Amino acid sequence: MSNHINLNLNVRGLSPSATLAINEQCNRLIKQGKKIYKLGLGQSPFPVPDEVVESLRRNAHQKDYLPVRGLSILREAIAGFNKRMLKVDSSADDILIGPGSKELIFILQLVYYGDLIIPTPSWVSYAPQARIAERHVYWVPTDKSNNWRLSPEKLESLCKDDPDRPRIVILNYPSNPTGCTYPVERLKLLAEVARKYRVILVSDEIYGLTQFDGNHQSIARYYPEGTIISSGLSKWCGAGGWRLGTFTFPKDLKWLLDAMAVVASETFTATSAPIQYAAVTAFEGDGWMDDYLFHTRRILKQIGYWFAERLNSCNIWAPQPQGAFYLFADFGSYREKLSRKGIHTSNDLCNALLAETGVAILSGSDFGRNPEELTARIAYVNFDGENALNFSRKKYSGSDLDKAFLDTCCTDIVEAANKITDWTANS
Ligand code: PMP
Ligand code: GLU
Repeated sequence: MSNHINLNLNVRGLSPSATLAINEQCNRLIKQGKKIYKLGLGQSPFPVPDEVVESLRRNAHQKDYLPVRGLSILREAIAGFNKRMLKVDSSADDILIGPGSKELIFILQLVYYGDLIIPTPSWVSYAPQARIAERHVYWVPTDKSNNWRLSPEKLESLCKDDPDRPRIVILNYPSNPTGCTYPVERLKLLAEVARKYRVILVSDEIYGLTQFDGNHQSIARYYPEGTIISSGLSKWCGAGGWRLGTFTFPKDLKWLLDAMAVVASETFTATSAPIQYAAVTAFEGDGWMDDYLFHTRRILKQIGYWFAERLNSCNIWAPQPQGAFYLFADFGSYREKLSRKGIHTSNDLCNALLAETGVAILSGSDFGRNPEELTARIAYVNFDGENALNFSRKKYSGSDLDKAFLDTCCTDIVEAANKITDWTANS
């Protein structure tokens, strides 16, 4: 029986998340025998570190429901990780574990009655989650010349009209979709505005440890009383499909943690037990972690820099990424040529590119950009991460990788980049 009329109004008309939809579309096309370059879904290409996989193996027998907030040794390990990697003080009591940070971000929006403030562009799921939870979304305009980052002035001008309004601001850095991050001075200025208007600041640091220079800084250091750090295993540890996310709360927001734990107890109960035990190994880290992060960052940096340069040399503008595995590209200088082909929106652009070249990328409108702007996100993850890691570990010690690495380990990425530039230039 299907009766759309009875669907909850908050859900009616929503489509499946763009990231997951493009992945399924690519898999269908591949099954039909087509050559597809999967630059749509943003998932880490690297294997989960052996030590963490081994820990999961050892814990496969863990079968009990765990505490709603998460295993206490895991929460302790995360507090240690926060101190070591982010220089942020926290304790096990400040931490909530969930089946992915995505679920935690949603539950936060459900329990906290406030507007959602996000810069445009932002990750695809924040706004639909707000809609499902019946929250207003305010997209803060950004400037391309500032690599589409949230500026303290714009945040201030949004908040000052109604200073006491309850708000959640999500700041994600390194950013999905741009790969760019914020210098510390900017974080401090943003923290000042957040403090002035007492916003709940969700610092989405899921890509923090992928920052190429290894120098990711958390805004929680500058607005400790109002910042929730959102993180997890999905990106730096290559374990998106394991579904484990973490929220670290300031002491002052304990009431919010408690409210989220109530919803967790009535919905997902607790995160998978074997995964939580394995996550202890991941967050405790060790020598293997430094090695893994060193090589994965170096690989992503080489690909990201090369890809951005390739696009820029063809007048497709994209800022040089600083972390994560994304580029946000502006095809605007080809607007006239593309419009002669019937391409007027970022969706048209991505559909035509996929149909004509097999390269799958996501349109800027999925990230909250004006549909008429010809922007798109490129997830440069279409390579064998294990092979790339082996190559990097064997061949080089200190220096950066070079084009030979790309030609050996990333042939599909190089082909996809060439297809994007050739197709655009010849359109
Ligand atoms: N935030 C951002 C910016 C993301 O790209 C993602 C996608 N993985 C998430 C949050 C959610 O990650 P997860 O649910 O896998 O922890
Ligand atoms: N965050 C990833 C992306 O932006 C995919 C996972 C997801 O959206 O849940 O592509």
